[in-house]
Amino acid sequence: MIEDKVVIITGASSGIGEATARSLASKGARVVLGARREASLKRIAEAIRQNGGQAVYQTLDVTRQEDNDRIVQLAKDTFGRVDVIFLNAGVMPNSPLSALKTDDWQQMVDVNVKGVLNGVAAVLPVFLAQKSGHVIATSSVAGLKAYPNGAVYGGTKWFVRDFMEVLRMESAMEGSNIRTATIYPAAINTELLATISAKETLDQMQDVYDKYGISPDRIASVVAFAIDQPEDTTINEFTVGPANQPW
Ligand code: NDP
Repeated sequence: MIEDKVVIITGASSGIGEATARSLASKGARVVLGARREASLKRIAEAIRQNGGQAVYQTLDVTRQEDNDRIVQLAKDTFGRVDVIFLNAGVMPNSPLSALKTDDWQQMVDVNVKGVLNGVAAVLPVFLAQKSGHVIATSSVAGLKAYPNGAVYGGTKWFVRDFMEVLRMESAMEGSNIRTATIYPAAINTELLATISAKETLDQMQDVYDKYGISPDRIASVVAFAIDQPEDTTINEFTVGPANQPW
């Protein structure tokens, strides 16, 4: 059941997060949007409201615990509860390790790993008190397989897989009724490649995305499907990519 659910979405200012926000709101969810680019969040929230949906937003840097705490509070203050958090914010400044782009390595760990931890730390007390909740996270096919130029990015996405699986197990063991779902997208046409500063890596990946990339709406559909399951059912993992993608 999606209608009336209160859904926090990180990385909602473009790509998968934006598509998911629009889709869930059109199905009656009450969405709470977070990312760093305020103008984009405002535009998306206004478009949702113009279509009869319910949306609020807050600027959020997932690397800052206090921002994560504030967006959970915003959801509670505005809509009275939190049903789902979609931990989707991420960056992918890929490069060969030999390029030693250590600032990019740090940024990926900060956003893709610590951002997920911060989001869970912010929402878990609410879910434990409610004895219900749904944590959905965007990993990647790079969290299932190794790719050259993606050692650090892949590592952050493998982390998400492990973390989400343990969260699922512990929630079941503790009887807290917290559901989990982890999404493993392949080539999805978004703004993600803009985070790549290594020119050769960017050119290679751009070719792949030009050839194979599909719409972020495909991921939004899967997130909606996971949320729509009965409360006693977790659909835990989804790998979603272009039908013609051979790797
Ligand atoms: P986009 O670049 O379009 O979206 C990324 C989102 O993350 C933006 O909304 C961006 O907003 C936000 N973000 C980045 N850094 C931060 C931060 N520090 N704090 C808060 N928000 C942040 O790319 P996608 O939609 O593709 O990416 C969404 C997720 O999907 C990522 O986790 C990515 O790794 C994953 N993914 C994507 C694939 C693809 O092919 N596109 C494949 C596999 C996984 P802002 O800049 O406004 O902060």
